[in-house]
Amino acid sequence: MDRLEQTICALATPPGEGGIAVIRVSGPDAYAIVEKVFVPVRRGRRVADAKGYTAMLGHYLLRGEEMDETVALFYRAPHSYTGEDVIELSVHGGTAMADGLLEALLLAGAAPAGPGEFTRRALEHGKLSLTQAEAVMEVIAANGRQGAALAKSALDGRLAKRIAAIQTALQSLNAHLSAWVDYPEEDVPELSDAALTGTLLAQKAELDDLIAGYGAGAVLRHGVDCVLLGRPNVGKSTLLNLLAGFDRAIVTPVAGTTRDIVEQAVQLGEIRLNLFDTAGVREVGADGDAIEAEGIRRSWKKLDEAGLVLAVFDAAQPLEESDLDIARRCQGRPALAILNKQDLAESTEAARDLLAPYFKKVLTLCAKDAASLQPLSAAVAELLGTAKLDPRAGQLCSARQLAAATRARDAVAEALKANREGFGLDAVAVCLTDALQALCDLTGEDAADATIDEVFETFCVGK
Ligand code: GDP
Repeated sequence: MDRLEQTICALATPPGEGGIAVIRVSGPDAYAIVEKVFVPVRRGRRVADAKGYTAMLGHYLLRGEEMDETVALFYRAPHSYTGEDVIELSVHGGTAMADGLLEALLLAGAAPAGPGEFTRRALEHGKLSLTQAEAVMEVIAANGRQGAALAKSALDGRLAKRIAAIQTALQSLNAHLSAWVDYPEEDVPELSDAALTGTLLAQKAELDDLIAGYGAGAVLRHGVDCVLLGRPNVGKSTLLNLLAGFDRAIVTPVAGTTRDIVEQAVQLGEIRLNLFDTAGVREVGADGDAIEAEGIRRSWKKLDEAGLVLAVFDAAQPLEESDLDIARRCQGRPALAILNKQDLAESTEAARDLLAPYFKKVLTLCAKDAASLQPLSAAVAELLGTAKLDPRAGQLCSARQLAAATRARDAVAEALKANREGFGLDAVAVCLTDALQALCDLTGEDAADATIDEVFETFCVGK
């Protein structure tokens, strides 16, 4: 039997304790199946007669036994999330009643839904585009308000609109070029080089903007891996405590006590930092402490993986060679220099000048002072590009989308190059066709089943 001919059911709320649990049933036999397990309170009312967008109170039966009180919400195809007949059944929370209801529905002929199957059906019935389906997952997984707003803008179709605008511009350019190349005898007006280059540059800029926003968007949705770096006693633990809001790391005035990598997630403004406090990074001599040496090795490794590096320096002391070694390692990374202990420092100018070449930004602060959080938060948002990202503009929200957008951008860049180097308009047209294909892949207009499978692999059941 074709999967779409089956009626599926699943728990739509998270498992565990809660006020209510909702079970969703979708498919051609939704009403017939629910009729078998749901008994309305009001005599004479029937599930089969229920209109869309109405509710009914009753209880459900499992093996003939009356179970929990149940509220049924009815949707009629195509006016439902999946585009099929859908019934949502709410029972008391916790797993017992929901499990009983699921069992009753399965006994009545429903099939358990696979991950993301409801959303996949919505896609197949044209209720959502592929980019919107991906956004559903992101809305569920997002942490933080801006991250959720970002995913929601893709769900609302704003991403689809941005892509459609690029498609339209490239499509009409391509149509013009093809007409001109294929029908030279017709009187197709020649495209001016300025118009051709102008359109290509504008669309490349828009694709560049989408691609650039992906990294910042991912930071807002999922947080960033952050490494705290600095030689002993500069104030790393103090800064960590400031970020965490309580004493997570042990702060002592003795050098080298922060031995291991302390892992903790803290919220800095709109960004979640997954923090790795690195063992005080310093040179270890032949008689050095082996455990600390191992900690240091791991610190450097973490640096390669970090999406944000906070390198802490002591503003009250002249910079040491080991400080500069740290600074050099930060070059070319998403790194922020923090000149700490501002309250003890007479002047920070010299240190700022020494550090500036290696960092995206140098910030002077006092880690003991809670007021330092605000400028730190602003500096991090600027460095990671989240400050200027408009979460409502519609952004790319999956690695798959990013790959397709990058292919489209590269093909447009190729078209510009072909034109600039005089390869002829048919060469430009070939590049444009590639770009349009990549954009089709992005929106899933003629997506292969394999692509759709990949998108839904990460979905939770019940969505
Ligand atoms: P770590 O070894 O880098 O983790 O450094 P700690 O956080 O343990 O700090 C070392 C010492 O510097 C502690 O006594 C802190 O209280 C002190 N300290 C840290 N930040 C500041 C600051 O901004 N101002 C002042 N006056 N002392 C600080």
